[in-house]
Amino acid sequence: MSVTPVLEADVLRRQDPELAEILLGELTRQSTTLQLVAAENFTSPAVLAALGSPLANKYAEGYPGARHHGGCEIVDVAERVAVDRAKALFGAEHANVQSHSGSSAVLAAYAALLRPGDTVLALGLPYGGHLTHGSPANFSGRWFDFVGYGVDAETGLIDHEQVRALARTHRPKAIVCGSIAYPRHIDYAFFREVADEVGAYLIADAAHPIGLVAGGAAPNPVPYADVVCATTHKVLRGPRGGMLLCGSELAERVDRAVFPFTQGGAQMNTIAAKAVAFGEAATPGFTAYAHQVVANARVLAAGLAAEGLIVTTGGTDTHLITVDPMPLGVDGRTARGRLAAAGVVLDCCALPHGEARGLRLGTAAVTTQGMGEVEMARIGVLLAGVLREKVESRKARDEVRDLVGGFPPYPG
Ligand SMILES: *Cc1c(COP(=O)(O)O)cnc(C)c1O
Repeated sequence: MSVTPVLEADVLRRQDPELAEILLGELTRQSTTLQLVAAENFTSPAVLAALGSPLANKYAEGYPGARHHGGCEIVDVAERVAVDRAKALFGAEHANVQSHSGSSAVLAAYAALLRPGDTVLALGLPYGGHLTHGSPANFSGRWFDFVGYGVDAETGLIDHEQVRALARTHRPKAIVCGSIAYPRHIDYAFFREVADEVGAYLIADAAHPIGLVAGGAAPNPVPYADVVCATTHKVLRGPRGGMLLCGSELAERVDRAVFPFTQGGAQMNTIAAKAVAFGEAATPGFTAYAHQVVANARVLAAGLAAEGLIVTTGGTDTHLITVDPMPLGVDGRTARGRLAAAGVVLDCCALPHGEARGLRLGTAAVTTQGMGEVEMARIGVLLAGVLREKVESRKARDEVRDLVGGFPPYPG
């Protein structure tokens, strides 16, 4: 099976050259620039094959054995395999693999446990909370009463004493732990203890670290949280989508919260691709990958610190790094622009201290490409050179092309 079955089958090129051009252009962009967006990865050819399969044609509202459409006997098997693999991979009693995205998985977790107007305690957005953790622009901020905890301004670490104090004061119905930018392991046992003390549910939004959990490189929230929500497309390296994990006692509530509460028909091609990704994640190769992702992030963080950037929390336990580039004379926004001109793709993020924005980087994609510590050290020097404007952007672009050229994400 080829990497891009549709393109190589020539069907699209013949029928719709305009779109074929766009798809090939994106493949070229992904393989000729440096992918440091922390939420991205390169899925395998097998995952892409499942995504591009005729399962995309099948309507399948409901759950295996209880669908609202005929002809589901084959896709039912695909969903059962995905569920069983997810349960085994994460040691969960129940898994729901239907959520279309990480955000809709969070919505389903809230729908399973909460009523509109309930109080929820979550990491505040300025400290790395996700939109679904109470942003006024999101359903979460409009339908629930969110209280935000923060991180220590000095250390950048979650302020556990503040979490406990806010929980005691506000008596939330649920506590959410999980972040889009927190580079350290989350102490799930601590959050469980506080949730128990105030009679709250614990929801772990493990969208980012769930792939590290699969590879044994980060602590597993499943034994601690009432409901774990996650994405399947970040470090986990599956198709774009979401999932939920919980104990048997909440299984029915979680399933009903996904369908019919938050969505209709399941996307069976994506569910099959999730099953493929779970299968890949259960292999020794993926365990090695997950540990290499973290080793790479540590080297890159140390390299950036050596170049004078301020690394939040002083380092990382995960694939994520956030830095303040201000000591090099640029804020995050300007830095991102300069790096983009050099072919380095990454995001801005909020910083725990101060107003200016920082940069968020991740090593999931570059590690999939096969890069290791040597390349991470090289990237650290390259980034700092671009930010200091010591390397002009055309030369930097050449160096990026040279670097990524040795690690094609889809050889051939
Ligand atoms: C990525 C992420 C999500 C949302 O995932 P989408 O698939 O983009 O909706 C939710 N929560 C956290 C903590 C995330 O990092």
